[in-house]
Amino acid sequence: MKSLIAALAAILAATPVIAADADLLLRHVTIVDVEKGVLVAGQAVATAGDTILAVGPDAEIAAEWQAAETVDGEGRYLIPGLWDMHVHFGGGPDLIAENKALLPLYVAHGITTIRDASGDLPYDVLAWRQEIAEGKLFGPTLLSSGPKIEGLKPLWKGTIETGSEAEVDAAVTKLKGLKVDFVKITDSTLKPDLFLYAVGAARKAGLNASGHIPMALTVGQAVDAGISSIEHLDYAFKAGVKDEAAIAADYAAGKIDRAAATRRLDAGFDRDTAMKAYRHFAEKGVFVSPTLNGGRILDYLDQDDHVDDPFLAYIGPKLRATYQWRVDRAAKATPEEIAFRHAHHEHVAAVMPLLAEAGVKILAGTDAGFLNSFIYSGPGLHDEIAYYVEKGLTPAVALASATRTGPEWFGKLDRYGAIKAGKAADLVILDRNPLADIRATQAIRAVILRGQFHDRAALDRMLEETKAKVDVWNAKEGR
Ligand SMILES: [Zn+2]
Repeated sequence: MKSLIAALAAILAATPVIAADADLLLRHVTIVDVEKGVLVAGQAVATAGDTILAVGPDAEIAAEWQAAETVDGEGRYLIPGLWDMHVHFGGGPDLIAENKALLPLYVAHGITTIRDASGDLPYDVLAWRQEIAEGKLFGPTLLSSGPKIEGLKPLWKGTIETGSEAEVDAAVTKLKGLKVDFVKITDSTLKPDLFLYAVGAARKAGLNASGHIPMALTVGQAVDAGISSIEHLDYAFKAGVKDEAAIAADYAAGKIDRAAATRRLDAGFDRDTAMKAYRHFAEKGVFVSPTLNGGRILDYLDQDDHVDDPFLAYIGPKLRATYQWRVDRAAKATPEEIAFRHAHHEHVAAVMPLLAEAGVKILAGTDAGFLNSFIYSGPGLHDEIAYYVEKGLTPAVALASATRTGPEWFGKLDRYGAIKAGKAADLVILDRNPLADIRATQAIRAVILRGQFHDRAALDRMLEETKAKVDVWNAKEGR
Protein backbone atom coordinates (compact mmCIF):
# COMPACT_ATOMS: atom_id res chain seq x y z
CA MET A 1 0.00 0.00 0.00
CA LYS A 2 2.74 2.37 1.02
CA SER A 3 4.60 1.65 -2.20
CA LEU A 4 1.45 2.36 -4.24
CA ILE A 5 1.05 5.82 -2.62
CA ALA A 6 4.71 6.52 -3.23
CA ALA A 7 4.27 5.49 -6.87
CA LEU A 8 1.24 7.80 -7.26
CA ALA A 9 3.11 10.68 -5.66
CA ALA A 10 6.00 10.11 -8.04
CA ILE A 11 3.63 10.19 -11.01
CA LEU A 12 2.03 13.43 -9.79
CA ALA A 13 5.42 15.05 -9.22
CA ALA A 14 6.49 14.14 -12.73
CA THR A 15 3.38 15.73 -14.27
CA PRO A 16 4.28 19.25 -15.48
CA VAL A 17 2.44 22.22 -14.02
CA ILE A 18 -0.67 22.73 -16.09
CA ALA A 19 -0.31 25.98 -18.00
CA ALA A 20 -2.76 28.77 -17.31
CA ASP A 21 -5.36 29.56 -19.94
CA ALA A 22 -5.12 32.40 -22.40
CA ASP A 23 -7.27 33.14 -25.44
CA LEU A 24 -4.41 34.01 -27.71
CA LEU A 25 -0.70 33.32 -27.66
CA LEU A 26 1.43 35.27 -30.05
CA ARG A 27 4.88 33.69 -30.30
CA HIS A 28 8.40 34.52 -31.55
CA VAL A 29 7.61 38.15 -32.28
CA THR A 30 9.75 41.28 -32.11
CA ILE A 31 8.07 43.85 -29.89
CA VAL A 32 8.52 47.50 -30.75
CA ASP A 33 8.88 49.42 -27.49
CA VAL A 34 7.28 52.67 -28.65
CA GLU A 35 8.21 54.50 -25.46
CA LYS A 36 11.95 53.95 -25.80
CA GLY A 37 12.02 53.49 -29.57
CA VAL A 38 13.79 50.10 -29.40
CA LEU A 39 13.14 46.52 -30.51
CA VAL A 40 12.82 43.55 -28.16
CA ALA A 41 13.26 40.31 -30.14
CA GLY A 42 12.07 36.77 -29.36
CA GLN A 43 9.00 37.68 -27.33
CA ALA A 44 5.63 36.10 -26.73
CA VAL A 45 2.39 37.79 -25.71
CA ALA A 46 -0.58 36.08 -24.03
CA THR A 47 -3.99 37.73 -24.03
CA ALA A 48 -7.40 36.94 -22.57
CA GLY A 49 -10.55 38.89 -23.28
CA ASP A 50 -9.55 42.44 -24.14
CA THR A 51 -6.40 42.43 -22.00
CA ILE A 52 -2.75 41.42 -22.29
CA LEU A 53 -2.01 38.81 -19.60
CA ALA A 54 1.71 38.37 -19.98
CA VAL A 55 4.67 39.46 -22.10
CA GLY A 56 8.17 38.04 -22.01
CA PRO A 57 10.84 35.81 -23.61
CA ASP A 58 9.10 33.30 -25.86
CA ALA A 59 10.12 30.06 -24.11
CA GLU A 60 9.11 31.39 -20.71
CA ILE A 61 5.68 32.61 -21.78
CA ALA A 62 5.01 29.52 -23.91
CA ALA A 63 5.73 27.29 -20.88
CA GLU A 64 3.43 29.27 -18.62
CA TRP A 65 0.45 29.78 -20.89
CA GLN A 66 -1.68 27.62 -23.13
CA ALA A 67 -4.05 29.32 -25.48
CA ALA A 68 -7.08 28.51 -27.61
CA GLU A 69 -5.31 30.15 -30.54
CA THR A 70 -1.57 30.38 -31.16
CA VAL A 71 -0.09 32.64 -33.81
CA ASP A 72 3.51 32.48 -34.98
CA GLY A 73 5.01 35.95 -35.24
CA GLU A 74 8.46 34.86 -36.44
CA GLY A 75 10.10 37.62 -38.43
CA ARG A 76 7.30 40.06 -37.61
CA TYR A 77 6.99 43.22 -35.52
CA LEU A 78 4.37 44.01 -32.92
CA ILE A 79 3.22 47.55 -32.12
CA PRO A 80 0.42 48.84 -29.90
CA GLY A 81 -2.79 49.65 -31.80
CA LEU A 82 -2.67 52.95 -33.67
CA TRP A 83 -4.59 56.04 -32.56
CA ASP A 84 -5.86 58.69 -34.98
CA MET A 85 -6.22 61.70 -32.69
CA HIS A 86 -8.16 63.97 -35.04
CA VAL A 87 -11.08 62.69 -37.08
CA HIS A 88 -14.54 64.02 -37.90
CA PHE A 89 -17.93 62.51 -38.63
CA GLY A 90 -20.69 64.51 -40.26
CA GLY A 91 -22.08 66.20 -43.32
CA GLY A 92 -25.71 66.07 -42.20
CA PRO A 93 -28.19 63.35 -41.16
CA ASP A 94 -28.30 62.11 -44.75
CA LEU A 95 -24.66 60.98 -44.43
CA ILE A 96 -24.98 58.92 -41.24
CA ALA A 97 -24.72 55.54 -43.01
CA GLU A 98 -21.69 56.64 -45.06
CA ASN A 99 -19.95 57.96 -41.93
CA LYS A 100 -20.66 54.77 -40.01
CA ALA A 101 -19.14 52.79 -42.90
CA LEU A 102 -15.80 54.50 -42.17
CA LEU A 103 -15.42 52.68 -38.84
CA PRO A 104 -14.17 49.31 -40.18
CA LEU A 105 -11.74 51.15 -42.48
CA TYR A 106 -9.89 52.36 -39.41
CA VAL A 107 -9.63 48.85 -37.96
CA ALA A 108 -8.53 47.39 -41.31
CA HIS A 109 -5.60 49.84 -41.17
CA GLY A 110 -4.53 49.00 -37.62
CA ILE A 111 -6.25 51.94 -35.99
CA THR A 112 -7.80 50.73 -32.76
CA THR A 113 -8.75 54.10 -31.25
CA ILE A 114 -9.96 57.34 -32.81
CA ARG A 115 -10.56 60.75 -31.27
CA ASP A 116 -13.57 62.47 -32.80
CA ALA A 117 -12.90 66.22 -32.78
CA SER A 118 -16.57 67.05 -33.32
CA GLY A 119 -18.79 67.43 -36.34
CA ASP A 120 -22.45 68.04 -37.02
CA LEU A 121 -23.68 64.63 -35.81
CA PRO A 122 -22.34 64.73 -32.26
CA TYR A 123 -25.17 62.80 -30.64
CA ASP A 124 -25.00 60.02 -33.23
CA VAL A 125 -21.26 59.74 -32.64
CA LEU A 126 -21.78 59.57 -28.86
CA ALA A 127 -24.29 56.76 -29.45
CA TRP A 128 -21.74 54.91 -31.64
CA ARG A 129 -19.14 55.35 -28.88
CA GLN A 130 -21.49 53.52 -26.52
CA GLU A 131 -22.44 50.81 -29.04
CA ILE A 132 -18.79 50.11 -29.86
CA ALA A 133 -17.92 49.90 -26.15
CA GLU A 134 -20.78 47.42 -25.67
CA GLY A 135 -19.72 45.32 -28.66
CA LYS A 136 -22.91 46.11 -30.62
CA LEU A 137 -21.16 48.08 -33.35
CA PHE A 138 -17.86 47.10 -34.97
CA GLY A 139 -15.23 49.81 -34.96
CA PRO A 140 -12.23 51.28 -33.19
CA THR A 141 -12.63 52.54 -29.64
CA LEU A 142 -14.20 55.94 -30.10
CA LEU A 143 -13.39 58.92 -27.91
CA SER A 144 -15.40 62.04 -28.64
CA SER A 145 -15.74 65.69 -27.73
CA GLY A 146 -19.48 65.54 -28.34
CA PRO A 147 -20.89 68.89 -29.51
CA LYS A 148 -18.29 71.62 -29.62
CA ILE A 149 -18.57 74.95 -27.82
CA GLU A 150 -19.04 77.89 -30.18
CA GLY A 151 -20.33 81.45 -30.24
CA LEU A 152 -23.82 82.52 -31.28
CA LYS A 153 -25.02 81.64 -34.78
CA PRO A 154 -21.75 79.91 -35.74
CA LEU A 155 -20.60 78.65 -39.10
CA TRP A 156 -20.44 75.10 -37.73
CA LYS A 157 -23.48 72.95 -37.03
CA GLY A 158 -23.75 70.55 -34.11
CA THR A 159 -22.45 73.05 -31.57
CA ILE A 160 -23.49 74.44 -28.22
CA GLU A 161 -23.87 78.18 -28.77
CA THR A 162 -22.58 80.43 -26.02
CA GLY A 163 -22.64 84.22 -25.68
CA SER A 164 -21.73 84.67 -22.02
CA GLU A 165 -19.67 83.11 -19.25
CA ALA A 166 -22.85 81.69 -17.72
CA GLU A 167 -23.70 80.00 -21.01
CA VAL A 168 -20.18 78.58 -21.24
CA ASP A 169 -20.56 77.20 -17.71
CA ALA A 170 -23.88 75.63 -18.69
CA ALA A 171 -22.27 74.15 -21.81
CA VAL A 172 -19.48 72.55 -19.77
CA THR A 173 -22.04 71.14 -17.31
CA LYS A 174 -23.98 69.69 -20.23
CA LEU A 175 -20.81 68.15 -21.72
CA LYS A 176 -19.94 66.62 -18.33
CA GLY A 177 -23.41 65.10 -18.33
CA LEU A 178 -22.80 63.61 -21.76
CA LYS A 179 -19.54 62.12 -20.38
CA VAL A 180 -17.55 63.53 -23.30
CA ASP A 181 -13.88 62.54 -23.47
CA PHE A 182 -12.64 66.11 -23.97
CA VAL A 183 -13.94 69.54 -24.93
CA LYS A 184 -13.58 71.03 -28.41
CA ILE A 185 -13.94 74.79 -28.78
CA THR A 186 -14.08 76.59 -32.13
CA ASP A 187 -14.11 80.26 -32.89
CA SER A 188 -16.20 81.03 -35.95
CA THR A 189 -18.27 83.43 -33.81
CA LEU A 190 -17.05 82.76 -30.26
CA LYS A 191 -15.63 85.93 -28.69
CA PRO A 192 -11.90 85.65 -27.91
CA ASP A 193 -12.35 86.34 -24.18
CA LEU A 194 -15.05 83.67 -24.02
CA PHE A 195 -12.72 81.24 -25.83
CA LEU A 196 -10.18 81.69 -23.03
CA TYR A 197 -12.92 81.41 -20.43
CA ALA A 198 -14.22 78.18 -22.01
CA VAL A 199 -10.74 76.63 -21.98
CA GLY A 200 -10.41 77.44 -18.27
CA ALA A 201 -13.94 76.22 -17.47
CA ALA A 202 -13.38 72.89 -19.20
CA ARG A 203 -10.07 72.34 -17.40
CA LYS A 204 -11.65 73.24 -14.07
CA ALA A 205 -14.29 70.59 -14.75
CA GLY A 206 -11.48 68.04 -15.18
CA LEU A 207 -11.69 67.80 -18.97
CA ASN A 208 -9.00 68.34 -21.57
CA ALA A 209 -9.73 71.34 -23.77
CA SER A 210 -8.73 71.90 -27.35
CA GLY A 211 -9.78 73.85 -30.39
CA HIS A 212 -9.17 76.59 -32.91
CA ILE A 213 -7.50 79.57 -31.29
CA PRO A 214 -9.03 82.93 -32.36
CA MET A 215 -6.77 85.06 -34.60
CA ALA A 216 -7.30 87.97 -32.20
CA LEU A 217 -5.45 86.06 -29.45
CA THR A 218 -1.87 84.91 -29.21
CA VAL A 219 -1.32 81.18 -28.95
CA GLY A 220 0.48 81.90 -25.66
CA GLN A 221 -2.76 83.30 -24.22
CA ALA A 222 -4.53 80.03 -25.01
CA VAL A 223 -1.64 78.07 -23.49
CA ASP A 224 -1.76 80.14 -20.33
CA ALA A 225 -5.54 79.68 -20.16
CA GLY A 226 -4.84 75.93 -19.99
CA ILE A 227 -5.41 74.62 -23.51
CA SER A 228 -4.47 70.92 -23.54
CA SER A 229 -3.50 70.55 -27.19
CA ILE A 230 -3.01 72.65 -30.29
CA GLU A 231 -4.94 71.28 -33.26
CA HIS A 232 -3.37 71.99 -36.65
CA LEU A 233 0.27 72.97 -37.04
CA ASP A 234 -0.56 76.49 -38.28
CA TYR A 235 -1.20 77.55 -34.69
CA ALA A 236 2.18 76.24 -33.56
CA PHE A 237 3.75 78.17 -36.43
CA LYS A 238 1.84 81.31 -35.35
CA ALA A 239 3.31 80.97 -31.85
CA GLY A 240 6.77 81.29 -33.45
CA VAL A 241 6.08 84.65 -35.10
CA LYS A 242 7.97 87.50 -33.50
CA ASP A 243 5.24 90.14 -33.75
CA GLU A 244 2.34 87.72 -33.24
CA ALA A 245 0.86 89.95 -30.51
CA ALA A 246 0.84 93.01 -32.81
CA ILE A 247 -0.77 91.02 -35.64
CA ALA A 248 -3.39 89.65 -33.23
CA ALA A 249 -4.10 93.18 -31.95
CA ASP A 250 -4.44 94.61 -35.49
CA TYR A 251 -6.78 91.79 -36.40
CA ALA A 252 -8.82 92.29 -33.21
CA ALA A 253 -9.08 96.03 -34.00
CA GLY A 254 -10.35 95.26 -37.50
CA LYS A 255 -7.30 96.85 -39.17
CA ILE A 256 -6.43 93.71 -41.15
CA ASP A 257 -8.39 90.73 -42.44
CA ARG A 258 -7.48 87.06 -42.04
CA ALA A 259 -5.59 86.88 -45.35
CA ALA A 260 -3.46 89.93 -44.46
CA ALA A 261 -2.82 88.50 -41.00
CA THR A 262 -1.73 85.18 -42.55
CA ARG A 263 0.70 86.97 -44.91
CA ARG A 264 2.25 88.90 -42.00
CA LEU A 265 2.48 85.73 -39.92
CA ASP A 266 4.15 83.90 -42.80
CA ALA A 267 6.82 86.61 -43.10
CA GLY A 268 7.43 86.96 -39.37
CA PHE A 269 8.54 83.51 -38.19
CA ASP A 270 11.55 83.60 -35.92
CA ARG A 271 13.37 80.50 -34.66
CA ASP A 272 14.25 81.85 -31.22
CA THR A 273 10.69 83.06 -30.63
CA ALA A 274 9.43 79.66 -31.73
CA MET A 275 11.77 77.64 -29.54
CA LYS A 276 10.84 79.74 -26.52
CA ALA A 277 7.14 79.22 -27.25
CA TYR A 278 7.59 75.47 -27.83
CA ARG A 279 9.56 75.00 -24.61
CA HIS A 280 6.64 76.71 -22.91
CA PHE A 281 4.25 74.19 -24.58
CA ALA A 282 6.41 71.35 -23.28
CA GLU A 283 6.54 72.77 -19.75
CA LYS A 284 2.77 73.23 -19.67
CA GLY A 285 2.14 69.77 -21.14
CA VAL A 286 0.50 71.17 -24.29
CA PHE A 287 0.56 68.59 -27.10
CA VAL A 288 0.36 69.44 -30.81
CA SER A 289 -1.79 67.57 -33.34
CA PRO A 290 -0.34 68.78 -36.66
CA THR A 291 -2.94 67.36 -39.14
CA LEU A 292 -0.18 68.20 -41.60
CA ASN A 293 -0.74 65.90 -44.53
CA GLY A 294 -4.33 67.07 -44.93
CA GLY A 295 -2.99 70.58 -45.25
CA ARG A 296 -0.51 69.39 -47.87
CA ILE A 297 -3.31 67.80 -49.89
CA LEU A 298 -5.27 71.08 -50.00
CA ASP A 299 -2.22 73.27 -50.54
CA TYR A 300 -1.06 71.19 -53.50
CA LEU A 301 -4.41 70.49 -55.20
CA ASP A 302 -3.01 72.29 -58.26
CA GLN A 303 -0.48 69.45 -58.64
CA ASP A 304 -2.69 66.52 -57.66
CA ASP A 305 -6.49 66.71 -57.88
CA HIS A 306 -6.84 63.21 -56.35
CA VAL A 307 -9.69 62.22 -58.71
CA ASP A 308 -7.92 58.92 -59.42
CA ASP A 309 -7.13 57.99 -55.81
CA PRO A 310 -7.93 54.24 -55.57
CA PHE A 311 -9.19 54.65 -52.02
CA LEU A 312 -12.15 56.73 -53.24
CA ALA A 313 -13.76 53.33 -53.93
CA TYR A 314 -14.18 52.94 -50.15
CA ILE A 315 -15.77 56.35 -49.54
CA GLY A 316 -19.50 56.89 -50.03
CA PRO A 317 -20.72 59.18 -52.84
CA LYS A 318 -22.27 61.80 -50.54
CA LEU A 319 -19.12 62.01 -48.47
CA ARG A 320 -17.05 62.28 -51.66
CA ALA A 321 -19.32 65.14 -52.74
CA THR A 322 -18.33 67.08 -49.59
CA TYR A 323 -14.76 67.13 -50.95
CA GLN A 324 -15.65 69.07 -54.09
CA TRP A 325 -16.02 72.69 -52.98
CA ARG A 326 -12.43 72.78 -51.76
CA VAL A 327 -11.32 71.53 -55.17
CA ASP A 328 -13.40 74.25 -56.86
CA ARG A 329 -12.04 76.92 -54.51
CA ALA A 330 -8.46 75.82 -55.20
CA ALA A 331 -9.11 75.95 -58.95
CA LYS A 332 -9.97 79.66 -58.70
CA ALA A 333 -6.65 80.60 -57.10
CA THR A 334 -4.24 82.85 -59.00
CA PRO A 335 -0.66 81.68 -59.66
CA GLU A 336 0.48 84.07 -56.90
CA GLU A 337 -2.00 82.60 -54.44
CA ILE A 338 -0.90 79.07 -55.33
CA ALA A 339 2.76 79.99 -54.91
CA PHE A 340 2.01 81.53 -51.51
CA ARG A 341 0.07 78.43 -50.47
CA HIS A 342 3.00 76.16 -51.33
CA ALA A 343 5.56 78.39 -49.64
CA HIS A 344 3.44 78.84 -46.51
CA HIS A 345 2.87 75.10 -46.26
CA GLU A 346 6.62 74.47 -46.33
CA HIS A 347 7.24 77.20 -43.73
CA VAL A 348 4.63 75.68 -41.41
CA ALA A 349 5.87 72.10 -41.95
CA ALA A 350 9.41 73.18 -41.07
CA VAL A 351 8.45 73.63 -37.42
CA MET A 352 8.02 69.85 -36.92
CA PRO A 353 11.64 69.19 -35.91
CA LEU A 354 11.64 72.32 -33.73
CA LEU A 355 8.70 70.97 -31.74
CA ALA A 356 10.51 67.67 -31.27
CA GLU A 357 13.70 69.50 -30.24
CA ALA A 358 11.74 71.45 -27.62
CA GLY A 359 10.26 68.21 -26.26
CA VAL A 360 6.68 68.91 -27.36
CA LYS A 361 4.56 65.76 -27.62
CA ILE A 362 3.08 65.23 -31.08
CA LEU A 363 -0.38 63.69 -31.49
CA ALA A 364 -0.78 62.06 -34.88
CA GLY A 365 -4.12 63.12 -36.28
CA THR A 366 -5.46 63.25 -39.81
CA ASP A 367 -8.55 65.50 -39.83
CA ALA A 368 -10.17 62.73 -41.91
CA GLY A 369 -13.86 63.17 -42.67
CA PHE A 370 -16.28 65.63 -44.23
CA LEU A 371 -14.38 68.74 -43.10
CA ASN A 372 -11.49 68.00 -45.45
CA SER A 373 -10.85 66.50 -48.85
CA PHE A 374 -9.06 63.25 -49.78
CA ILE A 375 -7.87 62.45 -46.25
CA TYR A 376 -8.94 58.86 -45.95
CA SER A 377 -10.09 57.11 -42.78
CA GLY A 378 -7.38 54.51 -42.26
CA PRO A 379 -4.64 55.18 -44.84
CA GLY A 380 -4.60 58.86 -43.81
CA LEU A 381 -2.88 58.14 -40.50
CA HIS A 382 -0.09 56.16 -42.17
CA ASP A 383 0.44 58.99 -44.66
CA GLU A 384 0.42 61.52 -41.82
CA ILE A 385 3.18 59.86 -39.78
CA ALA A 386 5.25 59.12 -42.89
CA TYR A 387 5.01 62.83 -43.71
CA TYR A 388 6.30 63.68 -40.20
CA VAL A 389 9.42 61.67 -40.97
CA GLU A 390 9.75 63.37 -44.36
CA LYS A 391 9.65 66.70 -42.50
CA GLY A 392 12.34 65.74 -39.99
CA LEU A 393 10.96 63.62 -37.16
CA THR A 394 12.60 60.28 -36.41
CA PRO A 395 10.54 57.15 -37.12
CA ALA A 396 10.51 56.47 -33.37
CA VAL A 397 8.94 59.85 -32.57
CA ALA A 398 6.48 59.51 -35.45
CA LEU A 399 5.48 56.03 -34.28
CA ALA A 400 5.05 57.21 -30.68
CA SER A 401 2.82 60.02 -31.96
CA ALA A 402 0.39 57.39 -33.27
CA THR A 403 0.60 54.85 -30.43
CA ARG A 404 1.62 56.47 -27.17
CA THR A 405 1.04 60.22 -26.95
CA GLY A 406 -2.72 59.82 -27.56
CA PRO A 407 -3.17 57.64 -24.46
CA GLU A 408 -0.82 59.97 -22.59
CA TRP A 409 -2.91 63.04 -23.54
CA PHE A 410 -6.05 61.31 -22.29
CA GLY A 411 -4.36 60.10 -19.06
CA LYS A 412 -4.83 56.48 -20.20
CA LEU A 413 -1.26 55.16 -20.13
CA ASP A 414 -2.32 52.67 -17.47
CA ARG A 415 -4.29 50.84 -20.17
CA TYR A 416 -2.75 51.85 -23.54
CA GLY A 417 0.46 52.94 -25.22
CA ALA A 418 2.67 49.90 -24.49
CA ILE A 419 2.75 46.12 -24.87
CA LYS A 420 2.74 44.99 -21.25
CA ALA A 421 0.66 42.83 -18.92
CA GLY A 422 -2.54 44.60 -17.93
CA LYS A 423 -2.70 46.77 -21.05
CA ALA A 424 -5.46 46.55 -23.64
CA ALA A 425 -5.07 43.76 -26.20
CA ASP A 426 -5.04 46.29 -29.05
CA LEU A 427 -2.09 45.30 -31.22
CA VAL A 428 -0.87 45.39 -34.80
CA ILE A 429 1.45 42.80 -36.38
CA LEU A 430 3.69 44.26 -39.09
CA ASP A 431 5.76 42.49 -41.74
CA ARG A 432 8.59 45.03 -41.46
CA ASN A 433 10.36 47.15 -38.85
CA PRO A 434 8.70 50.58 -38.50
CA LEU A 435 11.73 52.02 -36.67
CA ALA A 436 13.81 51.39 -39.82
CA ASP A 437 11.12 52.66 -42.22
CA ILE A 438 7.96 54.33 -40.96
CA ARG A 439 6.12 53.12 -44.09
CA ALA A 440 6.29 49.66 -42.48
CA THR A 441 3.17 50.61 -40.48
CA GLN A 442 1.32 49.96 -43.75
CA ALA A 443 2.62 46.38 -44.01
CA ILE A 444 -0.11 45.04 -41.73
CA ARG A 445 -0.23 41.27 -41.27
CA ALA A 446 -2.92 41.22 -38.55
CA VAL A 447 -4.81 43.45 -36.13
CA ILE A 448 -5.85 42.50 -32.62
CA LEU A 449 -8.74 44.69 -31.49
CA ARG A 450 -9.92 44.29 -27.89
CA GLY A 451 -8.44 40.79 -27.97
CA GLN A 452 -10.08 39.76 -31.26
CA PHE A 453 -7.58 38.48 -33.81
CA HIS A 454 -8.14 39.67 -37.40
CA ASP A 455 -5.70 38.18 -39.89
CA ARG A 456 -4.88 39.70 -43.28
CA ALA A 457 -7.78 37.88 -44.95
CA ALA A 458 -10.23 39.20 -42.34
CA LEU A 459 -8.90 42.75 -42.80
CA ASP A 460 -9.28 42.42 -46.57
CA ARG A 461 -12.85 41.23 -46.05
CA MET A 462 -13.58 44.38 -43.99
CA LEU A 463 -12.33 46.46 -46.91
CA GLU A 464 -14.30 44.43 -49.46
CA GLU A 465 -17.51 44.70 -47.43
CA THR A 466 -17.13 48.48 -47.25
CA LYS A 467 -16.44 48.69 -50.97
CA ALA A 468 -19.54 46.59 -51.68
CA LYS A 469 -21.66 49.02 -49.65
CA VAL A 470 -20.14 51.96 -51.50
CA ASP A 471 -20.80 50.23 -54.85
CA VAL A 472 -24.50 49.99 -53.97
CA TRP A 473 -24.61 53.66 -52.91
CA ASN A 474 -22.76 54.67 -56.06
CA ALA A 475 -25.28 52.83 -58.23
CA LYS A 476 -28.14 54.53 -56.40
CA GLU A 477 -26.55 57.96 -56.78
CA GLY A 478 -25.61 57.29 -60.39
CA ARG A 479 -21.89 57.92 -59.71
ZN1 LIG B 1 -10.54 69.07 -37.56
